[in-house]
Amino acid sequence: MPQTPQARRNVSEIPTYVPGKPPTPRPGLTTFKLSSNENPYPPLPGVLDAAMSAAAAMNRYPDMGNSALYAALSDTLDVPVDDTAAATGSVALIYQLFNAFCEPGDEVVYAWRSFEAYPIAATAAAAVSVRVPVLADGRHDLDSMAAAITDRTRVVIVCTPNNPTGPAVTQSELDAFVARVPSRVLVVVDEAYLEFVRMDDAIDGLATYRAHSNVVLTRTFSKAYGLAGFRVGYAVGPAPLAAALRAVSLPFGVSSVAQAAAIASLAASDALFERVDALVAERDRVVGAVREAGWEIPDAQGNFVWFDSGERTAAFAAAADELGIVVRPFAGEGARVSIGETEANNRLISLAQTFVL
Ligand SMILES: *Cc1c(COP(=O)(O)O)cnc(C)c1O
Repeated sequence: MPQTPQARRNVSEIPTYVPGKPPTPRPGLTTFKLSSNENPYPPLPGVLDAAMSAAAAMNRYPDMGNSALYAALSDTLDVPVDDTAAATGSVALIYQLFNAFCEPGDEVVYAWRSFEAYPIAATAAAAVSVRVPVLADGRHDLDSMAAAITDRTRVVIVCTPNNPTGPAVTQSELDAFVARVPSRVLVVVDEAYLEFVRMDDAIDGLATYRAHSNVVLTRTFSKAYGLAGFRVGYAVGPAPLAAALRAVSLPFGVSSVAQAAAIASLAASDALFERVDALVAERDRVVGAVREAGWEIPDAQGNFVWFDSGERTAAFAAAADELGIVVRPFAGEGARVSIGETEANNRLISLAQTFVL
């Protein structure tokens, strides 16, 4: 047998990302995709125009330094430009964090079940995942996560609100946790859904990053801002950490269209908050109705709801598909369903009322 080129051993161990499926087309029935936590709204005011003007200059490379985007983030968030790093979605930032901070065999600690990109990114970086089960109510077990930190740990991730289970950590919980993490360990607070949080003692990510030299926030334009197709997210962290993230980024990763759309989105905050409020109201309506139908739903702080359907998860997803809505099943565990158009949410409520666990 001739020898063939071999990828590093960890590459064959990378789990496959299961993307949210598109709905099965059903003649005469509008179908809805509730499987990827996307935003059902069209672009925010001014965003399409900004993206189209940028698209007209597609023969030019984007600004590799993302300078206008960094300036806009710095203005909006009141943070130094040097404390920001943009990438093609916050998924890319998570890859970059592991690549920049982990030697092969180093450990990264995160809750499980949580965002399915974590084990993929960790394995791609040849890091070792230490998964700490979430509590029965879907919250992070921060005590056990702190206890799971060893000499090999380089990164811990707090996903808040947690995808896919829904609850968010409080500021007091986060403070107590960070106080237990050695300062040489990076604490990543994944705030992909921060705009949707409505709870007492909600975390103030920016205040937390300002108070520590080892805290990095990751955020995205994919969810509340509705730019999932353009791939742009950002990190905020102390300048040396942000610099490490920039250093390992793909050159010219964030397209000029994505940069322009992100900047225009930051300028449309009034319209953004209005839409987010409407989605939050829909979320709370769905959670109320579904609980009334007898389901135990964990606290839902993102733009999605977790159904603890256990062994009946495949049947639940199939029943949803029959109704023209597609959900994100995790076989044998449960299903995550995004808050979408009112009609889609109504169908989800009917499903919850009629489906027998
Ligand atoms: C959706 C999501 C992200 C970000 O996705 P990008 O589109 O890559 O910005 C990050 N973290 C969590 C927990 C998510 O659910």
